[in-house]
Amino acid sequence: MKQYLLRCGAFFDGVHQELKENVDILVEGKLIRAVGEDLPLHEDVEVIDLTDRTVMPGLIDSHVHYEFFDPATFNQFSITDTDERKALNMAHNCMEALGKGITTIRTTGTAFRGFGCLDVKRAIDMGLFPAARVIAAPHALGIPGGHWDFSTFGGNTNPALCEFLTQPYAIGSGAEDFKRLVRQQVKYGADFIKIMATGGFASPGDDPDELQLDDEELEAIIRTAHACNRKVAAHAYGSVSIDKLLELGIDEIEHGTLMEEHTAEQMVKSGVHYVPTLYSLVGDPEEPGAPAGMGTSEVPGAPTGMGTSGEPDAPAKRAQAPKPPAYQRKLDKYAAQLEQSRGIVLKLILDGQLVMGLGSDIVAGVASTEGWREFKCWRDLGIPALRTLVAATSDNAKIIGREDLGVLAPGKTADITAWDSDILEDHSALEGSHCTFVMKEGAIKKST
Ligand SMILES: [Zn+2]
Repeated sequence: MKQYLLRCGAFFDGVHQELKENVDILVEGKLIRAVGEDLPLHEDVEVIDLTDRTVMPGLIDSHVHYEFFDPATFNQFSITDTDERKALNMAHNCMEALGKGITTIRTTGTAFRGFGCLDVKRAIDMGLFPAARVIAAPHALGIPGGHWDFSTFGGNTNPALCEFLTQPYAIGSGAEDFKRLVRQQVKYGADFIKIMATGGFASPGDDPDELQLDDEELEAIIRTAHACNRKVAAHAYGSVSIDKLLELGIDEIEHGTLMEEHTAEQMVKSGVHYVPTLYSLVGDPEEPGAPAGMGTSEVPGAPTGMGTSGEPDAPAKRAQAPKPPAYQRKLDKYAAQLEQSRGIVLKLILDGQLVMGLGSDIVAGVASTEGWREFKCWRDLGIPALRTLVAATSDNAKIIGREDLGVLAPGKTADITAWDSDILEDHSALEGSHCTFVMKEGAIKKST
């Protein structure tokens, strides 16, 4: 079996918030066999010199929508693109991700009408082309006219067209209906279940504080999913919805950016997993113009002073497009609460008691090549680099249910990356161009 000995410059194992020196990694086949100082070198082992790089686990992005490219056109293409085109988009984005050091992505509800995202996943697993592996919730379950009902997006108000465009596997009403939808997701290969528990900022016909699934529906979804050995991740913003979800035994919260303090405490007590997708909330202070934009970012724009300078737009520098009026009205309505909740979320990250993941919300919140901006965002908000990287590696591995990933230790899957940037000081350190080496399951996918 092929063996590699990786000689590392700086070494981050994905768990401990420290950079070690003089660490070697022995890879055999798909697995890491040994990690330590001055590992013995056998004759048939190929040595890879990474002594001038920072070595860490392959990154995991735990919240993406890879079937599109551009936040600005997402609304429109959600209904005009075919499933075949969406599959090509997703395959392309998974290939691009791998070259940028992201060896695993989790898609949190797609806009496929059918289950094309699982075909992309299977093709990648078969090794048909080099790409990030996929963990998938094929659809985000929700209500007619709710946050993920694309049939009314793009300005479509024609009921005949809406009925035609409604995703048959995603949209339901009533406990029995949602039981059926959960079982269908599992039947066709879902790794987990995603639900749109509340409205959103960009979905024009609802409100982020609106609980869109009632108690019976939520209970039916969670109970059925658990009976099928699947976890449930919920898109939800405020305390009313999150308190209810926690009470009913939800496994994971996405966004949560309108929550109050008592809910954060309850989340810690419950041990729920949490992916806050912060970039689409706060944007980038170096990016002119409004931050969150486009059609369907589930989380809104910047608090005062973060990327809302009012200067003329500079599209070439921006990852996000301007917001439509309905979206902006909600941002204005919730501005104070968003800012307050941001402090609560940051405290949760720094406390380190919760398993919290790094999720970019590509392409709902950011263009498909810009996932590193979530890393930069956490850094810009004052989160230490290594805490941020724990979120992108070992915490995300727990969240996606793949604890063989995200950690450089004996017995783990050999997903390993190396970077030529200063990850401690440079907030843009994980921009794809800085990734110079990628190994996925013990095979070298990039080496420059
Ligand atoms: Zn999302």
